[in-house]
Amino acid sequence: RTVYVNGDYVPESEARISVFDRGFLFADAIYEVAAVLDGKLVDFPAHLRRLHRSAGELGMRVDISDDALLDIHRTLVERNGIEQGQVYMQLTRGAADRDFAFDTDAMTPGLVLFTLKKELIDTPVARNGLKVVTIEDLRWGRCDIKTTQLLYPSLAKMQAKASGADDAWLVRDGHIMEGTSNNAFIVTSEGAIITRPLSNGILHGITRATLMEYAATTGVRIEERAFTVAEAHQAAEAFVTSASMFVGPVVSIDGINLSDGKPGPVATQLRQHYIAESRKRLL
Ligand code: PLP
Repeated sequence: RTVYVNGDYVPESEARISVFDRGFLFADAIYEVAAVLDGKLVDFPAHLRRLHRSAGELGMRVDISDDALLDIHRTLVERNGIEQGQVYMQLTRGAADRDFAFDTDAMTPGLVLFTLKKELIDTPVARNGLKVVTIEDLRWGRCDIKTTQLLYPSLAKMQAKASGADDAWLVRDGHIMEGTSNNAFIVTSEGAIITRPLSNGILHGITRATLMEYAATTGVRIEERAFTVAEAHQAAEAFVTSASMFVGPVVSIDGINLSDGKPGPVATQLRQHYIAESRKRLL
């Protein structure tokens, strides 16, 4: 694979970053993952907007133009022959002698991009759905910033897998926050979809926002409010959204089957709708 590192396209085996990069030492880094369908980018402008928001919240510099970032994405997709998959982009504050205090202006931001080839449409998750278990949310208070500080969600996912599930839904004060790497929705018996409102406690998912926009145009009722673990257990259906899964039906929560343990009709229809509409807006 060809990867992009600080201005250069290089084979992955030749890619080098400094051991003093604050992304490596402090997780002082932000990232975006954009899906690729038909060799083109899904929801790309929204990913750029969120990158700038994350950078702004952390006082991190983005020294490169949006056009140049789009160009790097496209170049990697083409060079690596990605028809379906994703592009990962990570921006770090830069390298400096290890110190908790930093001087952003004195550093050069680090920028790394790479691609992953991956089937996104006809997947086991789409066919069989996901089993999730609820786990206490012990992450920091700024989950709205897309940082690479991902150890807790990674451990939570491992704990979920060890219990025979696929992923964890993180819980604070009895309410579902989000998945380890996706936003959480439940569906009522009337077919309304419920997802918690945006706050500092969850990532402002691009797929979440786009899906809600599409759902509204098809007349699906959306309730943006917090919901409890008990409500989730009793839901007619549930699903998650993310750039890497689009819409992933959830078929069981804490061992309790939803929609007979099969992907539900609302989640399945929203998934198809999301994919069809996204295909019309590729960049
Ligand atoms: N929530 C968390 C914690 C995530 O890490 C992600 C994506 O990686 C999402 C939600 C979904 O966001 P998006 O739809 O922008 O991929």
